[in-house]
Amino acid sequence: MADTTTTPATEEPKISFRNGNKPVWCPGCGDHSVLGALVGALERLKLKPEMTAVISGIGCSSRLPGYLSCYGFNSIHGRAIPIATGVKLSRPELTVVVPIGDGDCFAIGGGHVAHAVRRNIDLTLIVMDNEIYGLTKGQASPTTPLGTKTKTTAYGAYEKPFNPLEVMLAYGCSYVAQGFAGDIKYLTGLFADAIQHPGLSFIDVVSPCPTYRGGMEQYKTLRAMQHILTPENHNEHDWDAAHKLTRDKSQMHIGVFYREPRESYLETQEHLREKAHKLKAQAVEDIANVYR
Ligand code: SF4
Repeated sequence: MADTTTTPATEEPKISFRNGNKPVWCPGCGDHSVLGALVGALERLKLKPEMTAVISGIGCSSRLPGYLSCYGFNSIHGRAIPIATGVKLSRPELTVVVPIGDGDCFAIGGGHVAHAVRRNIDLTLIVMDNEIYGLTKGQASPTTPLGTKTKTTAYGAYEKPFNPLEVMLAYGCSYVAQGFAGDIKYLTGLFADAIQHPGLSFIDVVSPCPTYRGGMEQYKTLRAMQHILTPENHNEHDWDAAHKLTRDKSQMHIGVFYREPRESYLETQEHLREKAHKLKAQAVEDIANVYR
């Protein structure tokens, strides 16, 4: 009897990054789209699950690795970036993606962001920015707009919100982009582009939390404000133009704000190794032997 389970030699087996677990996010949560777009991007790039690691911290968004078939770690609050850095340094051949919430990234783990940027470590940092702490049921986060009433700001948020895109540009990030969870098709392409960027790529995804901030109607408002960046209307290599865009709130600019070809951390390390080799620097083992 013919073996019907065998894949014909000419047909490539379909790789799926979904592991079959059903997301527990609320209906309408932007995180569903981010998951769909990330899976689409990884599959479009023909990456292999065994060569991919998705590292998160804590929060609604950080549940994401639990729905994927690749390596994943739903780690500790604010520490997704250093853990992902360790994964990348120890296994440089892996593609490492960090889905993270706005609070996890810019409050609890805020100190790690600047150092990942200055190292230009090869990670893709996807902020699912819903301007609230969703998992803990609706407290103000670093990106909550002024005047917003939340569980912790009964009279309206009074601390000036972070502008993630402006902050990342000011830090010197080599890839800064904004996406929108209401446009999964565009988001898929944006993620695929960011994953291929050598060095740290940062995408701030406007990812609504309809349960604790804004309801479902915000999708309509945001969609009306959407403005796609193209080579005709924006030069992504112009830092000043990108900076101007980060401050323009009259529209929701979507796409790559800034891109700078720059040596990644691993490339720098490789060049240092070559330099040391040329100078005939002693191997660490030889130095250690002196003290044995
Ligand atoms: Fe999404 Fe908000 Fe529900 Fe969390 S609480 S799953 S962020 S809609």
